[in-house]
Amino acid sequence: MNLHEYQGKELLQRFGVAIQQGIPAETAEEAVQAAKTLQAQTGTSWWVVKAQIHAGGRGKGGGVKLAKSLEEVQQIAGKILGMTLITPQTGTEGKLVRKVLITQDVYYPGASKTEEYYMSVLLDRNSGRNVIVYSPEGGMDIEEVAEKTPERIFREFVDGSGPLLPFQARNIAFRLGLSGNAFKEMTRFVAALYEAYRSSDASLFEINPVLKTSDDKIIAVDSKVAIDDNALYRHPDLAAQRDLNEEDPVEVEAGKFNLNFIKLDGNVGCMVNGAGLAMATMDIIKLSGGEPANFLDVGGTANAQTVEAGFRIILKDPSVKAILINIFGGIVRCDRVAQGVVDAYRNIGEVNVPIIVRLQGTNAEEAKKIIDDSGLKVRSAILLREAASLVAEVVG
Ligand code: GDP
Ligand code: MN
Repeated sequence: MNLHEYQGKELLQRFGVAIQQGIPAETAEEAVQAAKTLQAQTGTSWWVVKAQIHAGGRGKGGGVKLAKSLEEVQQIAGKILGMTLITPQTGTEGKLVRKVLITQDVYYPGASKTEEYYMSVLLDRNSGRNVIVYSPEGGMDIEEVAEKTPERIFREFVDGSGPLLPFQARNIAFRLGLSGNAFKEMTRFVAALYEAYRSSDASLFEINPVLKTSDDKIIAVDSKVAIDDNALYRHPDLAAQRDLNEEDPVEVEAGKFNLNFIKLDGNVGCMVNGAGLAMATMDIIKLSGGEPANFLDVGGTANAQTVEAGFRIILKDPSVKAILINIFGGIVRCDRVAQGVVDAYRNIGEVNVPIIVRLQGTNAEEAKKIIDDSGLKVRSAILLREAASLVAEVVG
């Protein structure tokens, strides 16, 4: 699960990471109020209006703008709110902006581009350790730095599940070229950042830029945070911050029925129980000349309701030309699933794509009979080979 910048910054602040202060707003009026509050709290007289969407590169797309008066805050917030923001990470369809973050201006005189750093914490799967990736070349595309000047990107691996050790924090501050107070500030910053990552079961914290101000403060100006979904149950406060507007609506719908659904680009919808069988079924679809339109694992306890929900979700995709249902009856009985398919088909009413059902395992023969006797335009198969040739016939 991803957090918005403003949510990530709140989390960072709770762990003692110094951040660029900000207040989220949903209307231009709220934005002006936020700007006034920030002025009272921080003394800032310029502000930054930042679009809150789950994608980076907002600055390049026109989603981050400096405002030098309250009128400009109102004007800019009014313009950014409701706009469809296109950035290098949103795809061409862009993302609707429903919230902005009004922040203090931290680039007061003296802070220049050379004092923007890059820093992220993530899991390195190769070594099985957390790693802090950092660079003195912050503020810009880190991908570009990695490509052109890879020697400017550094890594600090952290052993075990404990905190970052003090010598490692010093190592990082040193390699960023810092000294004096800024050096000390950076060691505090990175230790607190690592604690925030570790304590929230995150899979990523990326801060770009980390800013050194003209008076030697180290501040998080941006935040990109991803929390491991499998650990969310341990963090109800974070789980409550989920923004469903930012997620694929079909995947959200599937989640309500405990279906594991991932949309793909092909033309054959599939509904399978078990992730391994789902992968194998996608291979079979490809071998038959089709392309899977989705991955859908209905789980080990498929019943009439989940089958119907799965059907409806697959049918929402206009590129689906056929549906292959592939169920192995181990814990579930095939005849029950078959009855579920028949009921769902009748409930939905108009199903205009051919459906191929392959049920194997407990009560497979009975299941085939239920489907063949139903009078519906559903083709049934017991062997996967038969199902595959039916798919080939349909999409061929
Ligand atoms: P991103 O483009 O989505 O990564 O959004 P960022 O939060 O990183 O903001 C983009 C850029 O806006 C930063 O790299 C800064 O150059 C600029 N920016 C952010 N905060 C301030 C600020 O307080 N003052 C000024 N002048 N520029 C800022
Ligand atoms: Mn950024």
